[in-house]
Amino acid sequence: MYVYADNAATTAVSKTALDAMLPYFTEEYGNASSLHTPGQRAAEALLKARETVAKAINADAREIYFTGGGSEADNQAILTGAVLGARKGKKHIISTAFEHHAVLHTLEKLEKEGYEVTLLPVHENGVVTPEDVAAAIREDTALVTIMMVNNEIGTVQPIAEIGAVCREKGVLFHTDAVQAVGHLPVDVKALNVDMLSMAGHKFHGPKGVGALYARKGVAVANVIEGGQQERGKRGGTENIPAIVGMAAALEEAVGKLDQDMAYVTGLREKLIEGLSKIPHSRLNGDREKRNPGTVNFCFEGIEGEGLLLWLDAKGVAASSGSACTSGSLDPSHVLLALGLPHEIAHGSLRLSVDAWNTEEEIDHILAAVPEVVDYLRDMSPVWDELERGVTPHLI
Ligand SMILES: *Cc1c(COP(=O)(O)O)cnc(C)c1O
Repeated sequence: MYVYADNAATTAVSKTALDAMLPYFTEEYGNASSLHTPGQRAAEALLKARETVAKAINADAREIYFTGGGSEADNQAILTGAVLGARKGKKHIISTAFEHHAVLHTLEKLEKEGYEVTLLPVHENGVVTPEDVAAAIREDTALVTIMMVNNEIGTVQPIAEIGAVCREKGVLFHTDAVQAVGHLPVDVKALNVDMLSMAGHKFHGPKGVGALYARKGVAVANVIEGGQQERGKRGGTENIPAIVGMAAALEEAVGKLDQDMAYVTGLREKLIEGLSKIPHSRLNGDREKRNPGTVNFCFEGIEGEGLLLWLDAKGVAASSGSACTSGSLDPSHVLLALGLPHEIAHGSLRLSVDAWNTEEEIDHILAAVPEVVDYLRDMSPVWDELERGVTPHLI
């Protein structure tokens, strides 16, 4: 048995999404900007997809801008906040220390251009408080950008409350909801957000396509100069098959959201219970405030990379932190933001399951992980010192 438990990194395209996409590669290949019939059919498909995506998050079709993925939507949202703020002489941006690199690296770029960035603490439980946000807002704050669900540890942020604080203070608010859309209820009005990012491949749509929601009245900044596509905010011929596929996947996910959330939460609870039995292990992030499918554990005395390779050999696809950093030996910036020491932040395991996983697969994971942890600890000089009391246990 080989279990895919890395759905926070990416997911398979669903049959519904694939079937919706296929005609747009072959018969329906028109350019949505063309005036002839094939072109107009493509334009119609584009409009329908825009309406479907909008409906799924309680927005208006004119508030949806298609992008080339979640990272691009994050870039566009932050750039929008920066440009609009600068016009009023406001160049302060608030975010958190554990955002995705699409956000953090965009903020670093803006810092070099003279913006000032405040990164809020996420506390030991991996949750930002609305009070922290309120206290950080200044006269010159242009934008607050805080993710809805953290991609490494799965904690859910109080977005509606933070949005209410921003609204009261008249500050633009963006949320990176890439890990939330399709997995949790997302209603842009109830969440009090001005902008929100999503990515198709995190909810069984295709890769390389995403969307930015921007509330009516928010003048979105251009990311790609070109033609008049996406209301002139993103030039380039629209990727109709991908956009249609993302819309179909989202409609499907939202249609069975309640049922899937209950089922996936059950799988997650079983994982947490089983993995907590491993001695000197630690669940990272708040026990309750987490999305249905993501768990993140540290096992003292072992190193994340070895754990992942051995789990792969035992038939479990997992990840240590985010896919973007697991190729490097740096400890996770997310776990460091929780205040974990370097030794522990190195040894983390993220398992992200969803409605495609089965109970049997969870059993397989719960057999494989303790076996691999034991094996690696037996070989680990660090574990040996911990067990002999030479160094104190940290977990
Ligand atoms: C995956 C992810 C992104 C990036 O999305 P891409 O479509 O891969 O560019 C951004 N933010 C979060 C929270 C993510 O999980």
